[in-house]
Amino acid sequence: MTKYIFVTGGVTSSLGKGIIAASLAKLLQARGFKVTIQKFDPYINIDPGTLNPYEHGECYVTEDGAETDLDLGHYERFLNVPTSQANNVTTGRIYSHVIEQERAGAYLGKTVQVVPHITDEIKRRMLMLGQTGKYDIVITELGGTVGDIESLPFIESVRQLRWELGNNDSLVIHLTLVPYLAAAGELKTKPTQHSVKTLLEYGVQPDILVCRTEHKLNNDIRKKLALFCNVNINAVVESIDAPTIYDVPLNMLREQLDKTVLAKLKLSTKAEPDLENWKAFLGRLKNPTNEVNIGLVGKYVELPDAYKSISEAFIHAGSSNETKVKVQYIAAESVNDENVAEKLKGLDGVLVAPGFGERGLDGKLSTIKFVREHKIPFFGICLGMQCSVIEFGRNVLGLKGANSFEMDENTPHPVINLMEEQKNITNMGGTMRLGAYDCEIKKGTKAYAIYGKSKISERHRHRYEFNNAYLKDYEKAGMIASGVNPETGLVEIVELKDHPFFVAGQFHPELKSTVVNPHPLFVSFVAASLAHKKSK
Ligand code: GLN
Repeated sequence: MTKYIFVTGGVTSSLGKGIIAASLAKLLQARGFKVTIQKFDPYINIDPGTLNPYEHGECYVTEDGAETDLDLGHYERFLNVPTSQANNVTTGRIYSHVIEQERAGAYLGKTVQVVPHITDEIKRRMLMLGQTGKYDIVITELGGTVGDIESLPFIESVRQLRWELGNNDSLVIHLTLVPYLAAAGELKTKPTQHSVKTLLEYGVQPDILVCRTEHKLNNDIRKKLALFCNVNINAVVESIDAPTIYDVPLNMLREQLDKTVLAKLKLSTKAEPDLENWKAFLGRLKNPTNEVNIGLVGKYVELPDAYKSISEAFIHAGSSNETKVKVQYIAAESVNDENVAEKLKGLDGVLVAPGFGERGLDGKLSTIKFVREHKIPFFGICLGMQCSVIEFGRNVLGLKGANSFEMDENTPHPVINLMEEQKNITNMGGTMRLGAYDCEIKKGTKAYAIYGKSKISERHRHRYEFNNAYLKDYEKAGMIASGVNPETGLVEIVELKDHPFFVAGQFHPELKSTVVNPHPLFVSFVAASLAHKKSK
């Protein structure tokens, strides 16, 4: 019998429900339970694939090619278990399914309504992963804040499920804020009382309160919260601001969140959680012996959430190199051939980021020219890889006007071209080359030395691709295709022969980097940047 945990959020957004859900999942997994986490988002987009990163941060892509909320990245990084399309559901997806059913005549004669048709569909999806029999516990994170109009059908579905599943098989954790008023020198419980009251109006009594706070909760505050919110005192859990998100599982362990959850769900466990690897990772993270400065050149740099998986992958790779990685975000459009030396001053390695559209293209090309000529370690991801191909075409092969078809449909040299199967696509949602594809790595290349094997699989999200008509010329001049998709021949990795580290992938390695398995490309890039720093 699968147990269900629902995580709601109160008072404000951005409290870190995803991290709390992932941390609890980590503790339960470390006690031997099979756990997965899913996220229900109240917006009407079918998925976040069509959203600008400024809206909700990065779009995270799963193995099966779902474009999802960035919290799924946290779930995978913490649990080291892949998620899938089923792990992220939006209001849009729910409605579109119900409307499709209505058109197909599935409700013939009935008025289709939010209750019961929308809530039934939400409940069906909430139970879906549990019914695969693969998990002991399914944690469902509800996006949004309790009290939002758009969250209502989700909360109502949780209410019904709590009733249907019963107390031993389900529970609700409410994540809330306990603000500190500096002028009064006090922590305040009222916002939490009000948000729990709102939940109660909808018929949901939370079982556990996780309280985000900047200061420790003393016993009086805990008692007050317990009394006014109708929970046990041991169900008031302090979640104090942590130096890194990777500290949060240990903070939750200290607060015995896992024990409280297991007791409420009547799950017995003798085992203490096995967190050896996690603690070793944290130990290395907090006691680095070196430091490197990495520049991340991209167009969404004002919002670091746009590059969430990349910055987390650097944390994993830094820990594995016992090196503090300082990532410096550089706005691509601020770089040009004249100021590039100044802009990249002091950097030990440079990453050119994924992205869409023309803005910042020239700055990326100036950056790549500079690091190529000055032998500074370079790592290109997706659009970053495409830019390295454009730069090499223009400046080494002398292909005047070489460009990506995405940026210039009239380019005389479309060295990056629209993929064949993309040519007749008109719908923008979910139609890119998405998810995991195999890649065959050539022996004797840097990529082979990094991965240590020839068959790999990486995740993708793009429409454009290296134009193989130019491959011979590139390879003759020193830029080789070291990784290729075995079925289609699409180029997946390019690298330069006469450069200490110039590697770029058409895929997104950052999506597969986890605490337990830091991604080898990031690990090697950090190592190369460190070596470069030491050689200066
Ligand atoms: N815009 C490019 C493409 O669609 C790169 C996409 C990306 O960087 N994810 O191919």
